[in-house]
Amino acid sequence: SAKNAGKNQYHFYKKKMTSEIFEKILMKQQISEALRNNEFEVYYQPQIDIKTNKIIAAEALLRWNHKSLGIISPSEFIPHAEETKLIIPLGDFVLKTATTFMKKLQEENLLIDGIIAVNISTIQLKHSDIFKTVLNNLEISQLDAKFLEVELTETFIMENVEESKKILKNLKKLGIKLSIDDFGTGYSSLSYLKQFPIDKLKIDKSFIDEIPNSSKDIAITRTIITLAKQLGIKVIAEGVEKIEQKDFLELENCDEIQGWIYSKALKEEEFIKFIQNFK
Ligand code: C2E
Ligand code: MG
Ligand code: MG
Ligand code: MG
Repeated sequence: SAKNAGKNQYHFYKKKMTSEIFEKILMKQQISEALRNNEFEVYYQPQIDIKTNKIIAAEALLRWNHKSLGIISPSEFIPHAEETKLIIPLGDFVLKTATTFMKKLQEENLLIDGIIAVNISTIQLKHSDIFKTVLNNLEISQLDAKFLEVELTETFIMENVEESKKILKNLKKLGIKLSIDDFGTGYSSLSYLKQFPIDKLKIDKSFIDEIPNSSKDIAITRTIITLAKQLGIKVIAEGVEKIEQKDFLELENCDEIQGWIYSKALKEEEFIKFIQNFK
């Protein structure tokens, strides 16, 4: 009967909820344990200036080197880290590690004036004092603020316009740079670009993938580059894998490239080797 079906559904729902909560508790335990055991590692992916063909920056990308499962990618654990708010201590760890590494690269003349780009989660912006965290890590690492770039998503800005305006203005006062990650893929309106002190747009990989075969992706990418130029800010293309894509971006006057065509994200030692062997 309908009544029984409803009852079964309730049981199913309750069971599902219980297992979800259980899973959440397990994930929380696993992530905090991994943090204590130093299982998280920061990898670095180079960003290349197209005109000068120089490595000018690196994006810090988090990896979980799990004791039994091996390397776990951020798309697997970041959502859980966000849900449990453990992204706050994790993000603090990334900022500390990445700014310290860039300071070392600068001091050892491996990457003079190199910039380190760090992804910041909406949870960090909404539920922690990101200003204090950034300031603290710049103090610890002794990296000049102008060499730190913070990557944000459109979604955070759009969902918290007034709040994020204050946060981002304060961060900018420190002298750091702000970039919009995955530009064009979020729920957004272009009006925030005139209200916020943005320094760079990152063209999402999904727009680059089908270049030069997709005339739509060509149009979108070209338009984002033009938009950045008109606004007087920088533009970088993410996920560049093929020479045809690089050639197109060069022709369109895109400023920078990040992608496997140069390198995947690398461990510290390998990133240093990459710098030493580059051109
Ligand atoms: P994202 O910030 O957009 O980072 C770019 C992603 O594209 C990285 O994936 C990078 O490895 C990948 N990628 C770059 N070039 C290529 C390419 O040529 N081909 C392909 N197939 N992939 C390429 P990754 O490292 O798996 O990170 C995924 C996402 O996880 C990041 O996307 C970012 O949203 C998030 N994430 C990573 N590290 C952190 C972190 O420390 N904090 C936070 N909050 N999020 C992070
Ligand atoms: Mg990013
Ligand atoms: Mg991106
Ligand atoms: Mg992304």
